[in-house]
Amino acid sequence: MSEYSPVPSPDATTVFPYHDLTPPATADVYEARRVVDDHLPRTPLVRNESLSAEFDADVYLKREDTLPTGAFKVRGGVTLASRLDDEFRESGLIAASTGNHGQSVAYAGRAFDVPVTIVVPEAANAAKVAAMERLGADVQFRGADFDEAREHAEDLAAQAGYRYVHSANEPSLVAGVGTAGLEIVETLPDLDYLFCPVGGGSSAAGYCLTVGALTDATVIGAQSEAAPAMRRAWADDTLEPHDRMETFAEGVATRVPFALTTTVLRERLDEFRLVSEAALRRGVRDLFVNEGLPIEGACATSLAAMRQRADELAGSTIVFPISGRNIEPEKLTDILDGAP
Ligand SMILES: *Cc1c(COP(=O)(O)O)cnc(C)c1O
Repeated sequence: MSEYSPVPSPDATTVFPYHDLTPPATADVYEARRVVDDHLPRTPLVRNESLSAEFDADVYLKREDTLPTGAFKVRGGVTLASRLDDEFRESGLIAASTGNHGQSVAYAGRAFDVPVTIVVPEAANAAKVAAMERLGADVQFRGADFDEAREHAEDLAAQAGYRYVHSANEPSLVAGVGTAGLEIVETLPDLDYLFCPVGGGSSAAGYCLTVGALTDATVIGAQSEAAPAMRRAWADDTLEPHDRMETFAEGVATRVPFALTTTVLRERLDEFRLVSEAALRRGVRDLFVNEGLPIEGACATSLAAMRQRADELAGSTIVFPISGRNIEPEKLTDILDGAP
């Protein structure tokens, strides 16, 4: 059995010696694509009529919700699992997650026949837990919030020799999720803007390395003002955890900025906007009512950022990813009912 204990990390998370914090390059995304193409369908890029009318622009949705787990993260999961060192094949992968990261790792473990353990907070989203179990993961409930679940996963990794899959300090995850950007570049090379959510920053980093590096488009990240840790890290060059973490949107609910993704974003992200929780709710409601699309609150950060900049967008070509569709029915109902 492998034996690894944590090593000092530039950010306030636990990393292990196998965590390489070197930012991936565009070439690594092309490399990841060979795996992603073998395991996942390419996702549609669809012009959206109601948003194109609203912005007097060509607005395209990158439909990451059509992936089998309903969110983009699985692109990274399969990339990482495809490269797993032999020493971990028996003990397997472990991750802490409130949802989509766990589903991604569970899907990848099943695809590569590697056992998977996911630690979730005790109050985790039941549908997401059921999905992880269906994919064969051993789901363990631990702690009141994500950080407590994370600490337990890190302890287990050290004790039992699992490969701990960090949600952002993993070059393979960033390279894997970047394949969505390559698909956009190939079908819509003349886009002007790409707006994307930032939670841990893997998705935004992937778009910076593809759309940002290969086209003239402006890449704009968005985060809830109720959980602005990564925005502050990007603006102030600090990896300090943030006191404020109150967003309802679990996909962007980060308290600690992550070293690897912050490096990429500081170097390459053109703009980073904070949006209100009310604007997130409005975005979730509008896409459901106007388009019949269930989207997670995290995904609505992009639309909220577009609306902040609406006066500059007329006549342009804009892409925003539907990053995930795994919203809890109760949350969606509350939003449609107009709950504050
Ligand atoms: C994880 C997630 C995000 C944020 O992505 P990061 O790569 O962590 O920044 C946004 N939307 C959804 C649906 C997610 O699951």
